[in-house]
Amino acid sequence: MTLTLPSTIAIDGPAGSGKSSVSFAVAQRINYLFVDTGAFYRAVTFLALEQALDLHDAAQLVALCEQTHFDMTPDRKDDGRQFTFLANERDITQDLNTPQVDKAVSIVAATPEVRASVLEAQRLLAKKGRVIMAGRDIGTVVLPNADLKIYIDASLEKRAERRHKQRRDNGEQADYEAILANLRERDRLDSSRDTAPLLQADDAIKLDTSDLTFDATIEAAYTLIANWTPSAT
Ligand code: C5P
Repeated sequence: MTLTLPSTIAIDGPAGSGKSSVSFAVAQRINYLFVDTGAFYRAVTFLALEQALDLHDAAQLVALCEQTHFDMTPDRKDDGRQFTFLANERDITQDLNTPQVDKAVSIVAATPEVRASVLEAQRLLAKKGRVIMAGRDIGTVVLPNADLKIYIDASLEKRAERRHKQRRDNGEQADYEAILANLRERDRLDSSRDTAPLLQADDAIKLDTSDLTFDATIEAAYTLIANWTPSAT
């Protein structure tokens, strides 16, 4: 029997919930394109910091977005990356997950003009279907008609533990308390902003991963996808 899988899958959730790693692993398994929308906001943030722009000045951020062509490709390299992210053809993939970007990204992502400018690029990537798109507002704003929506959540402490371990495993310096504080602050900013806040869509299925291992979470997400049935409407 061949499975009919949902063509567009939206996976939302807070920072450190594991949604990117899980989305990536499941996408590999079913041979779908994985789109990590956080990378777009991270890219704008990285470039803005590099150019010493004022992150609270929307006009400067808009000018930056207008001058930059962002592209995300499934190309992998031997450095643990899940995708390749290009800004005007320059590979900035490895610059996106630094503590500096972590600290500033929610400010940039709360700027409505920045969100508007990356929205079309994100929708374009989903156009061909067979895509798993992960973020904060995928089920609510970017792909409101996604075939399947999953909201992945976990307690703040668990998320901080995981992020801490991930950084350590990558050989990076990591301070648990600083990570906890950053996640708490990003939760606050991401959930309270006016434009496209972090929100579970009404028709999303919630997956709480606080007490699940990574493998069990992948299995749970895969089961939701494999058991999906096209709606009659
Ligand atoms: O998922 P990740 O932690 O890489 O996202 C970085 C930041 O980008 C989030 O804290 C959030 O502020 C922003 N973001 C967003 N909307 C998305 C994805 C990420 O606002 N769809």
